[in-house]
Amino acid sequence: MTKKGRVFSGARPTGRQHLGNYLGAIQNYAELQNEYDCVYCIVDVHALTTVETTQELRQNTFEMALDWLAAGIRPEETIMFVQSHVPEVMELHAYLSMVTPLGKLTDLPTFKEKIRHQPENVNYGLLGYPVLMTADIVLYKTDVVPVGIDQVPHIEFARETVRSFNYRFQTQALIEPQAKHTEIKKVLGIDGKEKMSKSLNNHIELAASPAETTKRVREMVTDPARVKRTDPGNPDICNVFTMHKIFSPQDEVDMINVECRRAGIGCVDCKMRLANNLNKHLEPFRAKRAEFESKPDDVQAILDDGGKRARAVAQEVMAEVREAMKLP
Ligand code: ADP
Repeated sequence: MTKKGRVFSGARPTGRQHLGNYLGAIQNYAELQNEYDCVYCIVDVHALTTVETTQELRQNTFEMALDWLAAGIRPEETIMFVQSHVPEVMELHAYLSMVTPLGKLTDLPTFKEKIRHQPENVNYGLLGYPVLMTADIVLYKTDVVPVGIDQVPHIEFARETVRSFNYRFQTQALIEPQAKHTEIKKVLGIDGKEKMSKSLNNHIELAASPAETTKRVREMVTDPARVKRTDPGNPDICNVFTMHKIFSPQDEVDMINVECRRAGIGCVDCKMRLANNLNKHLEPFRAKRAEFESKPDDVQAILDDGGKRARAVAQEVMAEVREAMKLP
């Protein structure tokens, strides 16, 4: 089947992935493979802008690769690789930086947010992040980038940078990427309030054991107005119910929707049902992950092979770029 074009997406190596990453990104990655040629990159260089130590970088990259593979990324067709394995991206980043007005970078909301987060470490990398991201995207002849609403300014930035570069050097060497808007489901953490995230420790890891998963689900906050077992609950504002709608069979969802409202089912029972359904859903994932985990050399070989395939495309693009720039 001919595919519609090439998709690129990158994510920082944050180690073991959680349900938020799975429902908000990885599932979409897996689905896109059916329609597009996909390039998925573990962006370790971007991670350097925020990490204090690189001690865990390799392990985090490995763990994330395991999760991606177990969740259905198909490395035979998809290029799955590590950003720093293709050093051409640094070169392109430098060239693109020459057509990037500084004010555009300092104006980006994400930059402002980052310096609020780490005022003690406002490094150049934080500022140049969108330029490196543009290099990531265009180096692999990307047509389409899946984005959530918060990343739209970055894609707009990438498109403008490509136009500036192509205009300045009178070339068509770089392709202007299109944004593919994906409705990112924001998954709440077990606190039922904040977005699920590792740093808030409100997450459920995909790779957790069934017992650990059950424990985490039991800690989930439900409708706060429901204090006693006999109080009726409101599934519409309950994160446990939201998860049921994703992981439980429809008849069970319907039953909970009715019974919770008339206190026919208690929160503990409701959570145990969710834990069971979630564990059932993750069973094939866990089996596949364990298999890859037992063969770390195979996983390394997949990343190395992805790096080689990515680099072949990158070198073609860079040859055109250098030619267009008339570099001696
Ligand atoms: P990055 O900074 O590389 O985006 P994150 O770990 O924050 O790294 O996110 C990786 C991907 O997972 C992103 O696409 C992000 O939107 C998605 N994601 C992370 N947490 C959640 C969440 N709680 N709900 C939905 N999507 C999420």
